[in-house]
Order: sequence, then structure tokens, then C-alpha cells
Amino acid sequence: MTTTDTAAVSQPFQAEVSELLHLMVHSVYSETDIFLRELISNASDACDKLRYQAIAAPELIGENDAPNIRVIPDKKANTLTVADTGIGMERQELIDNLGTIARSGTKAFVAKLAEAKDGAGLIGQFGVGFYSAFMVAQRIIVTSRRAGSREVWSWSSSGGAGFEVAPADEQDAKRVARGTEIVLHLKEDAKKYLETHEIERIVGAYSDNIQFPIVLVADEGEPRQINSASALWQRAKSELTPEDYTKAYQSIAHAFDEPAMTLHYRAEGRYSYAVLLFAPSTKPFDLFEPARKGKVKLYVRRVFITDDADLLPAYLRFVRGVVDSEDLPLNISREMLQNNPQLVQIRKAVATRVVGELETLAEKDAENFNKIWDAFGAVIKEGIYEDFERREKLLALSRFFSTTGEKRTLKQYVAELKPNQTEIYFLVGDSIERLKSNPRLEAASARGIEVLLLTDPVDAFWTSARLEFEGKPLQSLSQGDLNFDLIPLLEENKDKGEPAADEAQTIAIIKSSLGERVTDVKASTRLTTSASCLVAGSHGPDRELERLLSQQNRGMRSKPILEINLRHPLVAAIANKGSDKTIADDLSLLLLEQAQILDGELPEDPAAFAARLNRLVLQGLALSQ
Ligand code: ADP
Ligand code: MG
Repeated sequence: MTTTDTAAVSQPFQAEVSELLHLMVHSVYSETDIFLRELISNASDACDKLRYQAIAAPELIGENDAPNIRVIPDKKANTLTVADTGIGMERQELIDNLGTIARSGTKAFVAKLAEAKDGAGLIGQFGVGFYSAFMVAQRIIVTSRRAGSREVWSWSSSGGAGFEVAPADEQDAKRVARGTEIVLHLKEDAKKYLETHEIERIVGAYSDNIQFPIVLVADEGEPRQINSASALWQRAKSELTPEDYTKAYQSIAHAFDEPAMTLHYRAEGRYSYAVLLFAPSTKPFDLFEPARKGKVKLYVRRVFITDDADLLPAYLRFVRGVVDSEDLPLNISREMLQNNPQLVQIRKAVATRVVGELETLAEKDAENFNKIWDAFGAVIKEGIYEDFERREKLLALSRFFSTTGEKRTLKQYVAELKPNQTEIYFLVGDSIERLKSNPRLEAASARGIEVLLLTDPVDAFWTSARLEFEGKPLQSLSQGDLNFDLIPLLEENKDKGEPAADEAQTIAIIKSSLGERVTDVKASTRLTTSASCLVAGSHGPDRELERLLSQQNRGMRSKPILEINLRHPLVAAIANKGSDKTIADDLSLLLLEQAQILDGELPEDPAAFAARLNRLVLQGLALSQ
């Protein structure tokens, strides 16, 4: 051991931790109770880790020495202690774990908290882990002994800028035989947490599902266990109430909302396992963080193994809960988890059950299904291109906002096709408002054809897979050739007369003006009032997907096709002014640039665009004088 290892050190907190502590001290939080849930949850994790490591190294747990958690109020000393006989922390672990914030979700939360005027509601929606103890404590002392180690270390802090780590004194070291003891010196206004009925109330509300005994050691009376410490998922459905499930969800998922879906069953047969899964009703802060993975916990015969076993496909990563296997070996290594044939089987079966349960919910409980869809629809849609096997089901589950002004299913869409309509039309973009005024909608609106307006980033990806629903292909309005001819116009849009411009002549002029800027110029079937729009060829990616990819520096943008509306006066003017090359060039470029602007893009050369526009406006003014 080197000298620096034994010496006391003072260290600053990571910037995010300081910020979080500052926010907690300087705002009034009503939900201070949750600190106890967070500390007990950490104690429970530590007991889980010990039990897992003891499978390979049984000497870590002695006889009559099963891991447990103690809550010790001391009115004389004005301290509340939460102690566990779990895995414990070494010196460096104390520094790393209690000085930084590792979780991306917590970082996102701190950023949100800093923005919000009133953090009280927010902190109630999200635990901030260990640091929440500073809501009630003016000083915290953590003493810890890693299981199997002779060293005991103390971490202490009064919040503020930093913490100290030093070897524990002899008395503390003796008391902490294994695991972690957290002593909170309570703030003046937090003394109620010394009352046993308060402690029992909070443990009952938040921590009853903790699997290890939580023992209350009060000044008066014998120590007694205050939680039921049972694995709820092992109990029969008939014994459990909706409140039991909500509590289990909140404790397993670290959540404060109500579950929008609960799935509890036992699979028997070749493999036996219990499943208890929940879908939250609200969206977490880090849903789209790349690091976020599914957090369904794998247990083997009630021993926690890992929450990193990817038990569900990525597009179901919002689901929380437990799968508890009867048959897997307890000593299954984390490396074996990926390819274990039994787990492969379990993954498949559980994903099928979850998707099936979503289907049932969609049919029977629209209110809760809609909560899930609103919060996680953008994630579920990833499954449309990732999960080939369940694609049809996921398409049927999906809800899309459409030109009807409502959220629609594809089933509803297909049931209300226009006469001779054989395709499902959609348009991808970044906002409903912008899509509603998109010129590509014109011919469809003139015929009363419903169009799905897709605005989640993921929509550009799954739609590129060229899908069908009930035999009807999905077709983008910004891509390829459309043929609406057989679909009748609405009465008020009939009789528009012959196009003003000659097709072949006009196209030839525009092509010669635009040259290499476009791959082709075509007469449009999708426009009725606008002069022009850009579309992608029938093969290759949609324009919206290309735009997204090029924003992320992935992939080049290909040259578009310019479609023109032969009935538009500007287009007719090109045919008329064909002999004046400068005017024809200006007008043709304007058609292209307009179309780019309507797509929310800048013309390639904005200065030249402005100059051209001014020139044409001045000419127009001169003509009308
Ligand atoms: P989280 O539990 O989400 O990781 P916390 O802020 O609650 O975040 O805790 C940070 C880390 O500190 C934990 O991941 C764990 O490694 C460590 N830790 C906290 N409490 C204990 C404990 N009682 N025993 C062992 N390790 C602990
Ligand atoms: Mg925690």
C-alpha cells in the first residue's frame, strides 16, 4: 500500500454533482421522502451484488450472515443510519461512485432541473440516487468495507464543494464488518425522519418489494422487520391487487408514475420462469440516449443476476420488470448470457408476449395504450424495421397523425380508401404544421385522399423499407411517380381546363436552364396550386431520409427531380418567354429555389437567389405600370 492510499484526501465533486447539490439546497422540495427509498435501493443493489458474487466465492458470506438492511434512527445524536451487509465499497469506489454522476439519465435530469422554475415536481418524477440524501442531511458519513477486505474507508461531506475520504477509525471499522453504513446528520427541519411511524410509512410506500429484510432498529423496543421481503412476481396473480402491482412497479423501476400496462405470468414447460413486466405511462428523460438499454432484470431462482441481459429487443427498451428463471444455472457468467439457448428462447417468447399484450391493450384499454404510444411510439416504430418477424403486428399497433386531423391506425386508413386508391400515402417531415402546407399534398387533397403525416425522426428510416399493410404498399408523396388519374377529383376541383403550358416545350426550356442541378424535370401529378416541388426517384432513399443522414454527416444528398405544375402561370410564363434566355433561366431557377424553400432548405446560393428575385420583381413592376 502506498502512502497516498492511506492518507486522508479532500476532493471536489464533479461539476454536475455540485450543480445538483446546489439545486437541491436552494429550492424547496416537497418530495424529500424519496431519499430513504434511494438509500434502501442502493443497499438492496449492494446485497444483490454480494449474493451474485458469492455464487462463485461462497466465503464472502459466512453462515447465518445473509445480507440485510438496517434503518437506525437515533434521536439523541439526531442521526438516521441506513446500513447494509452487502458488497461494500473500496476506497476508489467511494471516490468514483459518490463524487460523480455516471448515469446519462441523471445528467439529463440535472439539466432539466436547472431549467425548471420549480424543481419540486420534477424531483418527484426522478430519483437522484445517493445525492438526494443531502435534501435532509447537513452532513453525511459513509463507512464501507468491501466484502472480503480488511480495509475500511470513510467518506464524508457536508454537500457544498467536495468530500473527504480517509481510513475509518478503529471503532467504526469494528462495527462495519461488511458492507456500507450511511449516517445522516439530519437538518433541523428533517427531524421527522427519526420517528418510527414515518420510517415505516415510507418503507411501506416505496420499499416493501425489496427482497432483503429491512430491519428497523429504534431506540426503544426490539429490532423488527418492516417490509415483506417477498418476490412479488412469484406470487399468484389472484393474491395481488392493482395497488400491489403499482408499488412493485415503482420500486422495481424506480418510478413515480402509474404503470400503463402490467404483464404478470408464469411460463411452464420446457423452461419455467416467472415474468413481471410493466410499461410506464410517462417518458423518461433519456429515452433516446444511445447508452440507454433495456433494464429488465434477470433473476435465477430469486437471485438477481444482471439487468444487462438484453431480455427484450431494443425497441421495447421502455419496458421495466423482472424475468426469474427456474432452470438457468446460478453461476451463469455474463459472457454466456448472450448465446445461452435457453435465454434465446426466453427472449423470443417474452417479446411475443409483450407485443401481444400491447395488442390486447390497444383493443381493450385505449386510454392506457395511448399513454404508452404517446410516450414510446417513436421507439416502438424502430421495431418496424428491426423486427422482421413482428413487423406486421407492429405496423398494426402504430398510430399515425394524418390529414384527417386524427391519430389513425393503418386498419382505419385501409378501410376508408378512395375509389381506385391502391396505396397508403404518407409524407415525412419535421413538423405537422410544415407538412400540412407541403405542396406535395395538393393532388391528394384535391381528391380527398388521406395522407399520413410522419414527424418522428425514426419515420424516415422505417418507411424506407418499402412496406405493405394488408396488401397495400406504403408510398411516399415525395418520391417516385404517382398516378392519381384513376382516383376521382372532389367535385369542387373538377373542370380545371387544359394546362396552359405545352409540356414538351416547357420541360425542354427548364432543362436547358437548370442543366446539372437536377436529374430530371417532369410534369407533376401531385401539384394543383403550387408551381413546383422536388421529389426523389422511385429507387433509392426518400428526400427526408437523405436530409437526416446528411445532417448526421452520413451519406451524400442525391440530385432531385424537379416537378412542375403546367397549370401554374409562372410555368406558363417560361414557355412564353422561352426566346429570352435570361428570363427563362431566372424563372427556371426560381422554380427550383422555391421548391427548396418549401422543403425548409436554403437555395444553394442565397445571394444570387435574392438578386434574381429582385430583378424579376422589378421587371414585373415595370410591366404593370
Ligand atoms: P445508482 O444507484 O443509480 O447507480 P446512486 O447515486 O444511487 O446511483 O449510487 C451511485 C453508486 O454508488 C451506485 O451505483 C453504487 O455503485 C454505489 N453505492 C451507493 N450506495 C451503495 C451501497 N450501500 N453499497 C455499495 N455501493 C453503493
Ligand atoms: Mg441508486
